[in-house]
Amino acid sequence: MIFRPVSRIIGSGLCLALLGACQTIPEDSGKTDVELIVTGGTVFDGTGTTGRTADVIIDDGRILYIGADTKDAYRAESSIDARGLVVAPGFIDPHTHADEELASEDAMDRANLAFAFQGITTVVVGNDGYGKPDIAAHADAARSGGVGTNVAYLAGFGPIREAALGRENRAPSAAEVAQMTALARSAMCEGAWGLSAGLYYVPQNYAATDEVVEIARVAGSMGGYFDTHMRDESTYNITVTGAVEESLDIGRRAQIPVHISHIKALGPAVWGKSSEMIALVEAARANGQRVTADQYPWAASGTRISNALVPRWALEGGLGSLRERLADPAEATRIRDGMIEGLARRGGADKLLVTGILEDAPVTPGQTLAQAAEAMQLEPVDAAIAILRQGDARVASFNMSASDIAAFARQDWVVTGSDGSTGHPRKYASFPKAYRDLVVDGTMPLARFIRRSSGASADLIGLPDRGYLKNGYAADLVVFDPAKFAPRATYQEPTRYSAGVRHLIVNGKQLIADGDYTGALPGEPLLKDTSC
Ligand SMILES: [Zn+2]
Repeated sequence: MIFRPVSRIIGSGLCLALLGACQTIPEDSGKTDVELIVTGGTVFDGTGTTGRTADVIIDDGRILYIGADTKDAYRAESSIDARGLVVAPGFIDPHTHADEELASEDAMDRANLAFAFQGITTVVVGNDGYGKPDIAAHADAARSGGVGTNVAYLAGFGPIREAALGRENRAPSAAEVAQMTALARSAMCEGAWGLSAGLYYVPQNYAATDEVVEIARVAGSMGGYFDTHMRDESTYNITVTGAVEESLDIGRRAQIPVHISHIKALGPAVWGKSSEMIALVEAARANGQRVTADQYPWAASGTRISNALVPRWALEGGLGSLRERLADPAEATRIRDGMIEGLARRGGADKLLVTGILEDAPVTPGQTLAQAAEAMQLEPVDAAIAILRQGDARVASFNMSASDIAAFARQDWVVTGSDGSTGHPRKYASFPKAYRDLVVDGTMPLARFIRRSSGASADLIGLPDRGYLKNGYAADLVVFDPAKFAPRATYQEPTRYSAGVRHLIVNGKQLIADGDYTGALPGEPLLKDTSC
C-alpha cells in the first residue's frame, strides 16, 4: 500500500473497511480544504527561537497548523511559495501616529501602506497622550470603512485632562480628578489597551506626577499599561534621567506596567546618559516592576521648530499666543534667550533639517536652519522666530549619539517601534532600518530581531492571540526576502515605501502579494476585552 498522510489513512481506511473500494476515491480525497498555505519558508515563531523550514496552514483568519510536508494533508484555495524567504509573525508597532490616516475618507490612506511595507500588521495609535478616549467610535469607524492593518488604541492623557481642565496650568480639584478617572475607565471599558501620556507637551506638562498617578491607576487596575513620552528626554526640565525616575515612580505607585516611548538621550548635554537610564530600568525590573521601551533606529528625531526650541511657558495657548508674546519686547527677549538655549540643546542650527512647512513659514524644505538663516541674513534664532511668526516648520533634529542608540538597542526589554509621523523617514522605514542596522550590519540574531518586532510587543501591549506563529493564533504574517528587506525612505525623501516585503497577511488575507498592494482592507480594530 502506498504511503498516505494520517488524514487520508483515516478517511480511506474507513471506506476500505466498509466498501472495499478505496481506489475509486479521487486523488485529493481526505485532504482538508483550507484558504491559504505558505510553503517552504524559514518560519520564525516570534519567541526568539531560530527559524525552521515549515509550511503554515491558514484558514478562517487563523493559523491552523505549522509543520513540514503538508501538501498531502491540505488542499488550499491559494498558496504562497516562500522558499528562500523568511516567514515571521506580522510586525507590531507600539508607537505610531497613524490615527488620522486610518480615519481618512481615502481608502488608500486607510490601507496604512507606509507601515505595511515594513512588514507591520498591527499599529498602536493614540500615543504621546494624544489618543481621544472614545475608543468605541474609533473602532466602529475602522470597521465600517475598513483598514489595511490592525489597529490597537491607547487612551490619551491629553484629551482626558482637557475635558476636565481645558488647557489650564493648575492642579485639578477632587471633582476634576474624578471626572478624569471616569473618562479613563470608560476608555478602558471600550477596549483601550492602556493610558498614553506626553508629559513634555503643553498642556499635559501642567500635570504633576501625583495627578498622572491617579489616572494611570485606573488603567492599571483594568489590566492596561502606561505608555509615556517622558516629561524630559534632554535637559528641558527634570532631565532625561529624572524623567525615567518619574516614569518608574508612576508605574510603582499606580501599579501599572510602564512602557517608555522612543527611548533616547536627546542632545549633546545628555549624550552618554543611556547607561544611567538603562541602570534605572534594570534595577526596577530586578525588583519585579514591569518596564519596557520602544526605539526607532534613527539619529534624528522628528519635531517642529516650536516644540524643539521655544520654552514651554511661551507656548501656553498655542502659536497664536506665542506671536502675541513676541510683540511684547520684554517677553520677546525672554523667548529669544530661551530659544538660544534650545538651539544649544539641539546641537546647533545645522542639526535641524527642515522637512516640511506649515502655513506660510518662509523656509524651504531640504534646508537646515543654519542655511535658512544664512539665506535670510539673520542669526539662526531670529530665523527661527521669523518662521514662527508666519507658521512653523517640521524638522528632523539630529540629536542622538550612535553609542546611545546602540546601547538601548541591545536591551532585551527594548522593542522595535517607528513613532511614524509625517515628514520623517521613520514612518516608512523603521523596521527594515532596524533590521539592517542590527542584524545585517550588526550582530543581533535574526530570531531576536523578529521577537523584538512581534512577540515581545504583543506581550507588552497584552494582545492575547497575536505576535506569534502558533496554532489558533490570528493569521498575521510577514513573508520577506532577507537579502532585500531594506529602507528606501530618506530624510530628503521620507515617503518612499520600504523594499523586501513579498507578502503580508493580515487576519488570513493578503494585504501585500508578490510585493504589491492587493487593494484589500483586511485589518481589524483590536479591542481589549475588559469586563466592565
Ligand atoms: Zn512621542
